[in-house]
Amino acid sequence: MDHIQELKRKQQDYFSQGATKSVQFRMKALKTLKHLIISNEKALMSALKEDLNKSNFDAYVTEIGILLEEIRFTMKHLKKWAQPRRIKSSLAQFGSKSYIYPEPYGVVLIIAPWNYPFQLAIAPLIGAIAAGNCAILKPSELTPQTSKLLGKLISDSFPKEYISVIQGGVEASQALLREKFDYIFFTGSVPVGKIIMEAAAKHLTPVTLELGGKSPCIVHKDSNLKIAAKRIAWGKFMNAGQTCVAPDYLYVHEKVKEEFLSLLINAIDDIFGENIFERGEYTRIVSPRHFNRLISFLSDGKLSYGGQYDQRLLTIEPTILEDINWEDEVMKDEIFGPILPILTYSDVNNMIKEINQRPKPLALYVFSESDEIQQFILDKISFGGGCINDTVYHLSSPYLPFGGVGESGIGAYHGKGSFDVFSHEKSILKQTTLFDLPYRYPNTKDALKKIKRLIR
Ligand code: NAD
Repeated sequence: MDHIQELKRKQQDYFSQGATKSVQFRMKALKTLKHLIISNEKALMSALKEDLNKSNFDAYVTEIGILLEEIRFTMKHLKKWAQPRRIKSSLAQFGSKSYIYPEPYGVVLIIAPWNYPFQLAIAPLIGAIAAGNCAILKPSELTPQTSKLLGKLISDSFPKEYISVIQGGVEASQALLREKFDYIFFTGSVPVGKIIMEAAAKHLTPVTLELGGKSPCIVHKDSNLKIAAKRIAWGKFMNAGQTCVAPDYLYVHEKVKEEFLSLLINAIDDIFGENIFERGEYTRIVSPRHFNRLISFLSDGKLSYGGQYDQRLLTIEPTILEDINWEDEVMKDEIFGPILPILTYSDVNNMIKEINQRPKPLALYVFSESDEIQQFILDKISFGGGCINDTVYHLSSPYLPFGGVGESGIGAYHGKGSFDVFSHEKSILKQTTLFDLPYRYPNTKDALKKIKRLIR
């Protein structure tokens, strides 16, 4: 793909001219991006409706508003973040001053998934711009209307040697990966994450991998069950469960299972309506392949709520499965759909052991009124990030870097985290020439004795 090589070369040339490095330039680009989003709100909403049947409310909250908030936060702090920071020097470096200079990597590649197709392409771009890079974006082929619109908006607003969108699926992605980038930011599945890292390794390109996995949600017997039910129903079933940090499955204490289940069903009816097919606003499953995979799980365990689907509309209603165990198909991989299996536990230690036998989750949620239980679970399980007495909400804070650990990802972004991801921190020691400490040189009398007083 010659045009990819050509585009990359143009971006490299542009970057080396240095224009993208000035803070003024970055602020102007962020302002342009903000304007582009605000003035195309309607077009974005209708593309998201066409691709995924997202309601305007969901489109605004999870794709548009969240980005505007991120841009606002970044613009407020960028000047400070971009400045060299003076830091301490140790006694052995007496006379010198130390600084960290954040500098852009250069030309970065951003590969995005389909589930929040606009947000997950633009959120990393905000960081790339803020840090002073040029960027090539590869949005998902599975949400063609949104990806097309994204391409048009970017090419109308930015010169292609600065920011560009390359459309296409696996082939386009792999053609891009053959090029040497200065940084790769990937959001997507674990198996593709491995392919990305392998391709990046060939050029020793640093990566951020925002991946997925099975995120547990624990409902302890002492939790506020009504609030737990509401917050879990919301976090699991928004976007039809196609959210990387949606609770994948529930671990409910057996003493409260029945009571919790009926509260959960009420909460689903309340938030999404008893008949989602009538309302016509429920997010659809992205493709027939994903749809068929999901409905194959419906025969696992016992259906305790939902289970209706419409093949033509690629829509599955919020569904709860009971009597599930770890051998069921639905427990083998990330579900990524509106199906919620419920496991029960009586012993906290055993439940933790089961979770720890699996890859480290991207998110974990604990509902409990006890500080001890909350702390115990946080101490015993490693996971990307999460909430106590809530679901998904941690993702929307610009103060909380968001990312996985182990198989759920490498690196974290949002807020200053996004600026940091796309910046190299150059460490600089500025030495004095007013004097020259003699004992650093081995030929000074008693150098070893003196240096030992400083370095020990
Ligand atoms: P995916 O891995 O199939 O695709 C992501 C991107 O990679 C797409 O742009 C796609 O074109 C490209 N791609 C696909 N196969 C490729 C290959 N063989 N070589 C190179 N590029 C390839 O993921 P998806 O289905 O779009 O998204 C769902 C997954 O993403 C879920 O696992 C979910 O948990 C995860 N996800 C994670 C986050 C996060 O922030 N951690 C956010 C959203 C989604």
